[in-house]
Amino acid sequence: MQTKETEITSDLLFVKKDNRPFLIAGPCSAETEEQVMTTAHQLVAADIDLFRSGIWKPRTRPGVFEGKGSIALPWLKRVKEETGLKTTIEVANAKQVEKALAFGIDVLWIGARSTANPFSVQEISDVLKGVDVPVMVKNPTNPDLDLWIGAIERVAASGIKHIAAVHRGFSTYAKSMFRNEPYWEIPIELRRRMPEIPLLCDNSHICGNRAELLNVAQYALDLNYDGLMTETHCDPDHAWSDAQQQITPATYKLLIDKLVFKREMIDDSDLLEYMASVRHQIDQLDLEVLNLLAKRMKLSEEIGKHKKHNRISILQMKRWNDILEKAKDMGRERGLSEGFISDYFSAVHQESIKRQSSSNNEDQANRNH
Ligand code: PEP
Ligand code: MN
Repeated sequence: MQTKETEITSDLLFVKKDNRPFLIAGPCSAETEEQVMTTAHQLVAADIDLFRSGIWKPRTRPGVFEGKGSIALPWLKRVKEETGLKTTIEVANAKQVEKALAFGIDVLWIGARSTANPFSVQEISDVLKGVDVPVMVKNPTNPDLDLWIGAIERVAASGIKHIAAVHRGFSTYAKSMFRNEPYWEIPIELRRRMPEIPLLCDNSHICGNRAELLNVAQYALDLNYDGLMTETHCDPDHAWSDAQQQITPATYKLLIDKLVFKREMIDDSDLLEYMASVRHQIDQLDLEVLNLLAKRMKLSEEIGKHKKHNRISILQMKRWNDILEKAKDMGRERGLSEGFISDYFSAVHQESIKRQSSSNNEDQANRNH
């Protein structure tokens, strides 16, 4: 096992180097020694920072390929010896952590299904006490930010210093163009609450297909993510798991070359001055919007009193439909997306109902006293 004194080299800290994101690539699963070695050798040209591969695969349904297990560990050791690439695998229990560390795996990751289970995260964290190995924590399958933060806290409490969060999207029952809906607001809020934790994007498991990989990766970089995890396979069409989303190392290199790397800020006083002046205008407009919203809610309360007096329901379906449809039309004319308008008006409508019902309840309470 590695000990606390083990030196962790700086290239494993999940940070950008010369503004280039931290790059993790490799197959969904280790299938054969040849497949692992070929993929790793081909990935050297893409200058990645870390080679990934699943060896214990958490599959949704039984009866499909569930990973090669421990016999694949020596293959990853060979990857490191022959290519110099550091390696990472998913671990889901204490035994797997011990085996991974015994074979010199450099970084561990906790998968989405394990993050959703605090018992699993605690078991992994307990066995990591006194070990110095970087750990990546994928978001849980369900869109629950506290569960993700809780898992990071459990790992941190075991003394692990280098932790990164991996955003791989969230399960939904609704049909979506994504395999796992990104819900970008969740990782953005994670970053706000845990600014010290590097944030990486697993574009493969968000997309579930090859076509959107570049767009999702660029979107993540636009949000100033620190790195990317992307599934790559020497023969993706014949991959034993996640074939639809894997790409060859050559395609992966093209994808990375197409990305526009972003920095949080640059030291240019003209630009900073210009941005400050536009931001001032934005702040003014936001203030106006807030004042208008407050006025609007007062009117809602007013009308609520009349509804109550006349014993008519607070929710008026026809009126709500009219508001929404009209807003979508007006929004479209002004270049505002239907999704945004619908989210915004739903929030306003919800608040308006709440105001009307609480003013009704207050009156009721006053009468009862
Ligand atoms: C994987 O990375 O291969 C994997 C199983 O990911 P997730 O836990 O995000 O589903
Ligand atoms: Mn996969």
